[in-house]
Amino acid sequence: MGFLKRLFGGEKENKESGYVDKTGIYFYVQCDNCGTCVRLRADKEHDLMREDNGFTWHKTIVDSRCFRPMPTIVVLNNKYEISDAEISGGQYISEAEYNTWLKHKDEPEEQVESSEVDNELSDDIEAFE
Ligand SMILES: [Zn+2]
Repeated sequence: MGFLKRLFGGEKENKESGYVDKTGIYFYVQCDNCGTCVRLRADKEHDLMREDNGFTWHKTIVDSRCFRPMPTIVVLNNKYEISDAEISGGQYISEAEYNTWLKHKDEPEEQVESSEVDNELSDDIEAFE
């Protein structure tokens, strides 16, 4: 439970930013195949299915890169807190992890790699001299 709370307990952060989406629940998922992260909003009134002790959310998530479907079922209690989450083809991540991915996704990875190689090369040359 502590793990899921960490993943989904984003309510305090929303309050700090001054905006609370009272009807939306946000889920963050990363595709196992291509690593793309997706943010999804489920509407409490329209997207959740009423169950005896809470709600379930059934969805097939598709990212915008490889389009591989990731079917998921999330179980929520009466307070809209996630008590269980199943997903295939991807995994649930925290809002913080999603934001980190968002920040770095447009950075050219090649540049980082080549500068590392340059450093290694210059080290080798020094050692050789
Ligand atoms: Zn993908």
